[in-house]
Amino acid sequence: MKLKKTRKARNCYSCKSSISKGDLYGQKSIALGSKVNGQTETAEGMYTVVHQMRIPVDMCQVCLGVK
Ligand SMILES: [Zn+2]
Repeated sequence: MKLKKTRKARNCYSCKSSISKGDLYGQKSIALGSKVNGQTETAEGMYTVVHQMRIPVDMCQVCLGVK
């Protein structure tokens, strides 16, 4: 995990603590929802392949386990 220096104040996604300007933080992508990649679902009679949504979130070094 590569840490970056933030140029603006952020909030840690995991512990909700604030990451102030100049502090190190990391970005992690998390999965939204519980669907499995490639799973098929019937929506209005049509088959669609469901892809898991992943979004990047900010995390502080403590939550990333970096010392
Ligand atoms: Zn945190």
